[in-house]
Amino acid sequence: MSKHFETNAIRISPSKSDQKEHSSAIYLTSSFTFDSAEEARATFADETEGNIYSRYANPNSSDLIEKLCAAELTEAGIATASGMAAMFGSIASLLQQGDHIIASRSLFGSTHQLLTRVFPKWGITSTYGDISDYKNWESLIQPNTKMLFLETPSNPGLEIIDLEWAGKFAKANNLILVVDNCFATPYIQQPSKWGADLVTHSATKYIDGQGRVLGGLILGKSELIKDVQFFTRHTGPAISPFNAWVLSKSMETLAVRMERHCDSAMKIASYFEGNQHLEGVKYPFLPSHPQYEVAKKQMRLGGGILTLTLKNGIERTKRFIDSLEMISRTANLGDSRSIATHPASTTHSKLSPEERARVGITDGLVRISVGLEHPEDIINDIDRALDLSK
Ligand SMILES: *Cc1c(COP(=O)(O)O)cnc(C)c1O
Repeated sequence: MSKHFETNAIRISPSKSDQKEHSSAIYLTSSFTFDSAEEARATFADETEGNIYSRYANPNSSDLIEKLCAAELTEAGIATASGMAAMFGSIASLLQQGDHIIASRSLFGSTHQLLTRVFPKWGITSTYGDISDYKNWESLIQPNTKMLFLETPSNPGLEIIDLEWAGKFAKANNLILVVDNCFATPYIQQPSKWGADLVTHSATKYIDGQGRVLGGLILGKSELIKDVQFFTRHTGPAISPFNAWVLSKSMETLAVRMERHCDSAMKIASYFEGNQHLEGVKYPFLPSHPQYEVAKKQMRLGGGILTLTLKNGIERTKRFIDSLEMISRTANLGDSRSIATHPASTTHSKLSPEERARVGITDGLVRISVGLEHPEDIINDIDRALDLSK
């Protein structure tokens, strides 16, 4: 009988070693041995299942992939050393010189650099679409367009793309649909249900959940993953067995963590909406969010990230960040500790002012990754810092 999300995330595990360990073992080994020359030949020829070398596969990375496939409802996958290795691999493995990508304009900073500075060197170009005008996307299609690359909710603007629309648009135009599902996690949204061919992750964020290790995943249909696997096996972005083990352990608590992250984020967003020091609060499950209806349709909960826009610009915003007592000043997100980030001067500082304006990153925008501390303590810290920074 098929099991629930939480149960799979806990009970899928590699087969026990001779020691009959309850918590899964860590396989810190670069290669695996064969009992005979014939077994080695057959394993290399893919005639029998078996590990060869940890750049190809390792029991810990296979375990992580199996859990994520169950969570994302996908057939197959690859685990990578970081989220960016996953973003890069999902594109580089499937496209070639002369191909074209349509992407949502609000993307993670490094993904934006890939599309605008890295891939053009190899003749792969891209065009950004604006989600406030889906009708216009048809006109972005070129004869060489092969892929639709989306991020929803987006970082840091929290734009929500209608995945039902995206699935239909990709199908009608024969595009490979790739969705970066890092912000939502599979507990909140499963893009494959809406027709995504590949789902990518930075596991560094909520899948780890405690800010310890880097990792990434590319998940999707077997026929596509076969090409991705060829690429990653021979270019080498393999995840370390230790990191894969940490991330697999973290999957066991993803559901309960996300429930609390989202519950607290909703409380905090509601508390600060209308605050005199703020121009606005953005959170997918606040009815004031421009894509509230879409968020309600495709997300189980609103996620753990909200943004505050402070009045009076950059100096005041910096004073606010400096006045926080508990909330960490760092660029990560999806941690058990709450984090405040000023995208304009940090994660998105490499964008030109025009590029930032286009994706809604104003000088007063602060991204709050709501942690697992008591929500009242998070509220009190923000409240106090708003008063002090006046
Ligand atoms: C962090 C992040 C990435 C990159 O992941 P790394 O693990 O830092 O390489 C990609 N996409 C989104 C949405 C992210 O937040």
